[in-house]
Amino acid sequence: HNHIDNATVEKVEAAIAAGDTHTHVPDYEDFAAYKAEGGYEKLAEIRKSGEFETIQQTLLDSGLRGLGGAGFPSGKKWGFVRAEAGPRYLAVNGDEGEPGTFKDRYYLERTPHLFLEGMLIAAWAVEAKTCFIYMRDEYPAVLKILAKEIKALEDAGIVEEGYIELRRGAGAYICGEESAMIESIEGKRGLPRHRPPFVAQVGVYNKPTLVNNVETLYWVTRVLREGGEILSGVEKNDRKGLRSYSVSGRVKNPGVHLLPAGSTILDIIEAAGGMLDGHTLKAYQPGGPSSGLLPAHMDDVPLDFDTLQPHGSFIGSAAVVVLSDKDSAKEAAINMLKFFEDESCGQCTPCRVGCEKAVKLMQADKWDQSLLEELSQTMVDASICGLGQAAPNPIRLTMKHFPDEV
Ligand code: SF4
Repeated sequence: HNHIDNATVEKVEAAIAAGDTHTHVPDYEDFAAYKAEGGYEKLAEIRKSGEFETIQQTLLDSGLRGLGGAGFPSGKKWGFVRAEAGPRYLAVNGDEGEPGTFKDRYYLERTPHLFLEGMLIAAWAVEAKTCFIYMRDEYPAVLKILAKEIKALEDAGIVEEGYIELRRGAGAYICGEESAMIESIEGKRGLPRHRPPFVAQVGVYNKPTLVNNVETLYWVTRVLREGGEILSGVEKNDRKGLRSYSVSGRVKNPGVHLLPAGSTILDIIEAAGGMLDGHTLKAYQPGGPSSGLLPAHMDDVPLDFDTLQPHGSFIGSAAVVVLSDKDSAKEAAINMLKFFEDESCGQCTPCRVGCEKAVKLMQADKWDQSLLEELSQTMVDASICGLGQAAPNPIRLTMKHFPDEV
């Protein structure tokens, strides 16, 4: 997939020249417009007289959790980093590389300052020396927007020049893993680190580091400006809060759909305009390839943090891909493992060799299920990071729910 020939280059250049939307900067709320509707007043108020414990409690009461995929309560994380001896850093994970996920891009291309204000509030909370924004290079419009708006913040005296460092990722999925991202920020190859120590204690330049996802910081601003009830007041299927589902696949209106956190796949498909004509739901990926595939009959499970673990899956960054009766679960699972094979950083054998062997075994007409299960368990037990540990999910879930295909 990474061989780009001249014809492709010419095609891309022609698309850009013709005003391709990928590189085109969309209309968005810039600094002046954001400021005019009360933007950065909350930051100013907090910087002047905010108390950490009060702000932290507001976040905890809102139920805000890390929206990069791990779902750790944001207020708690801030507290852990703040408790460590300084200097401390803030690193924003904008390396939105999970296939099917595009919610961070969605918010950044519309209201970048809701994110930037949240980031500066987080920086205040942990008294960060520098804020690093690690942004994937495949989002050229976002990079342009952020560069321009960070300059506007400097010109307005809201941050000192150079306080926010915008870093460009170079396309490696593994750099979205927080410790690999930190290695990359330090200028090294993005290899995940062993844990412990956790990045909250030993992060950028071996100093305590708060790593927050873009969307999490977007919600920090909204919770503090509008009140935590915007999240905690939404209840559905015994779950509280909202989720930004990135929906793609066989639906009429793919895109980001903001829904209650207790939404099921049927709610999500309905919000996305229903299934494409002539397609019936067969399976869905609830949260990126690491979450594997679930069958259509599991249509009453709320797609939220904690609800999918008993089913051998998880919500992650809420990248929902809808498959229909026209799709093959087996082919989808092979595709997922090929992705992991490509993106494995190669540092540890169970993942590097395991993904490669899994792809070969899965390409057989009939899967050697006991061997694949043995391989899966080894990868789960012995891989250094989440990539190798979660890569077997598509294998296991496909064997469990689509036995006829394998
Ligand atoms: Fe690298 Fe895979 Fe090992 Fe993670 S599990 S450190 S991606 S080889």
